[in-house]
Amino acid sequence: MNASFDTIIIGAGSMGSSAAYFLSKTGQKVLCLDRYPAPHVFGSHGGQSRIVRKAYFEHPDYVPLLERSYQNWRILEEESGQKLYYKTGLIYLSSAQSEISKGVKHAARIHDLSLIDLDTESLNDKYSQFKSTQNKQILLEKEAGFVLPELTIQTLIKLSGNYGAIFRMPEIVQSWKVSGGVCSVTTNMGIYLSEKLIICPGAWSSQLLPDLNIPLKVSRQNLAWFETSSSSNFSMESFPCFMIDDDNHGLFYGFPELEPEKFGGSGGLKIAHHLVSDYVENLMEYSPDNKISQEEESLLRNILSTFLPEANGRLLNASTCLYTNSPDGDFVLDFLPGYHEKVIVACGFSGHGFKFVPVIGEILSDLTRKGKTDLNIDFLRLSRFA
Ligand SMILES: Cc1cc2nc3c(=O)[nH]c(=O)nc-3n(C[C@H](O)[C@H](O)[C@H](O)COP(=O)(O)OP(=O)(O)OC[C@H]3O[C@@H](n4cnc5c(N)ncnc54)[C@H](O)[C@@H]3O)c2cc1C
Repeated sequence: MNASFDTIIIGAGSMGSSAAYFLSKTGQKVLCLDRYPAPHVFGSHGGQSRIVRKAYFEHPDYVPLLERSYQNWRILEEESGQKLYYKTGLIYLSSAQSEISKGVKHAARIHDLSLIDLDTESLNDKYSQFKSTQNKQILLEKEAGFVLPELTIQTLIKLSGNYGAIFRMPEIVQSWKVSGGVCSVTTNMGIYLSEKLIICPGAWSSQLLPDLNIPLKVSRQNLAWFETSSSSNFSMESFPCFMIDDDNHGLFYGFPELEPEKFGGSGGLKIAHHLVSDYVENLMEYSPDNKISQEEESLLRNILSTFLPEANGRLLNASTCLYTNSPDGDFVLDFLPGYHEKVIVACGFSGHGFKFVPVIGEILSDLTRKGKTDLNIDFLRLSRFA
């Protein structure tokens, strides 16, 4: 096959499927290629749920992007008739000196976001599941919640298809080039031509973007689901998402228990450790599995037994997923230098990109069609590494 498109998107995962939706909605002829049939478990979007929050400790400049993302989540739900976002609230639990809680408060203050300071008593009144919270800094972000990543990608692919986007998967992109003003993409099945190219291959970014010249380190991350003493006590109607910053071991985060009948999976409370340490040097040797080391399990149990003892039951399920870590933990979103704004990259989402899916897709569409975006992405551009 040798066909021509307005835009080819490499990677139909989180960011690629969203770009396909926004571009095809404007009438562009779009081809989206993925090495696996998305959604899938081999990249960064598997594992049932993703936290969405706005008081962004990572960098306050993300907040305006999140405001747009929240709007776009709603539009996506309305257009598809599919519920994707569940507002549960989010409890941040840490010591008073925690840099994370300082960052959460700072972002909330400068962007005038609602954030409630709770004491142990008022936390107990609302969520008696949390224990050992004396002398802790407790913050509640009421507007936060979680989204369903696999269903989001399915929905984006379906809507894009309705607007005429073509998805070819599984099909592996082997190389790409720009010559004579035309982009050409070679896969294991053919060559495709386009006016513009978006490259968002997640964990495979270094392979497809050797000119990027910034180290993107891929790490393997574990997720685990533990049985609770009472599913109704930990359901999303009675329990929030949470982030616990432990002085010794760093950040842990988790979700309410989701009914398997409605959401699939094993049930149980999902918890994970946001620690980047298990680097994947060779992606060919990585395969996702449903195991978790004894050491990791005991770290998770240590947090559960201290703060959520009624959720420290049997290990029901585990899975692995990949982070693609940029050197500073911030996303990489820009034109690739040297290609006259024909090639746009979106990568290095560093384990916190999913909540931005509907705004990144819009930005990619704007950069592709208009060469600019109204949103401030200067802090995400490649020039920061110069
Ligand atoms: C365990 C875990 C927990 C997370 N929790 C949260 C959270 O709570 N909140 C949050 O906001 N974010 C969270 N994230 C981060 C978020 O999920 C990622 O930032 C986001 O999914 C990255 O999207 P992506 O498009 O870069 O990658 P992907 O969704 O993996 O998409 C990349 C796609 O490119 C395809 N591809 C690669 N190479 C090729 C090729 N050669 N040819 C064709 N296709 C190719 C891949 O198959 C893949 O489908 C979490 C991530 C993990 C792993």
